[in-house]
Amino acid sequence: MAIERTFSIIKPDAVAKNNIGAIYNRFETAGLKIIASKMVHLSKEQAEGFYAEHSERPFFGALVAFMTSGPIMVQALEGENAVLAHRDILGATDPADAASGTIRADFAESIDENAAHGSDSVASAEREVAYFFSTEELCPRTR
Ligand code: UDP
Repeated sequence: MAIERTFSIIKPDAVAKNNIGAIYNRFETAGLKIIASKMVHLSKEQAEGFYAEHSERPFFGALVAFMTSGPIMVQALEGENAVLAHRDILGATDPADAASGTIRADFAESIDENAAHGSDSVASAEREVAYFFSTEELCPRTR
């Protein structure tokens, strides 16, 4: 299997509930290694840029307001099939549809405050990691 990188956000709701460590534990249990991590409080421009592909969707304004409502944790993760492995433990976008034992089932309240983000493809992961981290900030851990 291929060693991949993916990008994760622990969103403002989960940070506010003090669930950073619990969610990091899910990554590590799934064999995903954190290779960069930081806390940031997004500006409106940063949130709009990150979610630009959704700019025409009706929920865009609410999404940007939520993502700027408090600090978030951003992570680059590395591991075998990391993009899909991370999406699997994340669960469906709407926590009501998320499989039991997934991050969104266990830590999210609603589709618009759904605890965490995970890249949906290798191409998205590359773009999203680069949106937040320079090459020098990444610490590869899988040989
Ligand atoms: N979102 C929302 N309302 C919706 C659909 C999506 O608030 O009806 C938000 C939600 O926070 C989601 C994000 O927009 O995580 C991006 O949506 P996407 O469809 O890409 O879902 P994801 O890849 O995050 O599961």
